[in-house]
Amino acid sequence: MRTWAIVHLERFLGNINAVKTRIGHEKRICVPVKADAYGHGALEIAKTSLKTGISCFSVATVREGTELRKGGIKEQILLFSQPHPEEIPELISSDLTPIISDEWYADALNKQAKSKLSVHMKIDTGMGRFGCPAEEALALARHISSCPKLELKGTSTHFAVSDSENSADTAYTQHQLSGFKDALNTIKSAGIDPGIIHAANSGAVLRHPDTWFDMVRPGILLYGYKTTEENGEPLMIQSVMELRTIVVLIKKLKKSESISYGRTWTASQDTFIAVLPVGYADGFPRLASNKWQTVIGGKSYPLAGRVCMDQCCVDLGTESEVKRWDEAVIFGGTAADASALAAVTGTIPYEITSNINKRVPRIYTNG
Ligand SMILES: *Cc1c(COP(=O)(O)O)cnc(C)c1O
Repeated sequence: MRTWAIVHLERFLGNINAVKTRIGHEKRICVPVKADAYGHGALEIAKTSLKTGISCFSVATVREGTELRKGGIKEQILLFSQPHPEEIPELISSDLTPIISDEWYADALNKQAKSKLSVHMKIDTGMGRFGCPAEEALALARHISSCPKLELKGTSTHFAVSDSENSADTAYTQHQLSGFKDALNTIKSAGIDPGIIHAANSGAVLRHPDTWFDMVRPGILLYGYKTTEENGEPLMIQSVMELRTIVVLIKKLKKSESISYGRTWTASQDTFIAVLPVGYADGFPRLASNKWQTVIGGKSYPLAGRVCMDQCCVDLGTESEVKRWDEAVIFGGTAADASALAAVTGTIPYEITSNINKRVPRIYTNG
């Protein structure tokens, strides 16, 4: 094989168990499998999650939900985003659980639902994206309750800076939390059952135990990356994805000869260069050019020159044991992980793993 991603399912299971132990076994975990499970493969991740008793998943598009149903997933699937009206019939036939921000969506679902449809609602407490304003939460809950085909089964919000260690951001999360609790109280006081309450993303799982409610929705944490330090005892998690390739050519380069587009790297001495068939079209960021170390045979070798669409080069030095067809680790495993690669390229691990292209086969270890 040319370039492949190893998805370490046993690590994913370990991460689920670490989060379960942290939050307490009486609370539920919704596993976000949107964007093909952050690039790890939604169906495999969902099936593996079932082994630990997970009974809720979430997706971003109706199509993603339908694919899980076709793959045999029978558990609840929350639809995080707002679908287009034309997608509502498929949402209903795929038995996805919509999350309602406004009365229009409630009405559209109520009109098209054939039997009782479980829905959740969302309150915007400061993310500024989906959700109704907190002061309209009661009106929305009432409206949903008045729709004969809809059943309010859950109420949620989403945090903007729960993964930040800075004190203003910590205060902002607490402000979001108190707005959410106030809105929940007005709903309950009016005699409406808000259903299962959920708010916490990965940052809030690590830093804000008071946001855990009935269910948490950590994504990046389950895939093995901490985007913040936690309060208290460190959570033991491991990065799930490893990207590997092979050395397809070794060549000698003379001092002062250059490599790749733009000639950004020049040999300071006679050296050996390995060509690796992985590039930015595979999802290995071009911004990593000249800034990243790959690992071959347990030793680190720096990238030399720009990452191209389908290949990159590494400097093996004046003498090296590396042989043609040896395996090379790009990230994860014995190399630094996607989080470190994100730091070097000015992004977040979410973007690294979800950008690993479809042409890169995923190889699953036993979970
Ligand atoms: C993606 C998403 C999550 C998970 O976020 P992480 O930062 O990966 O934990 C939780 N809730 C909603 C609404 C999301 O869109």
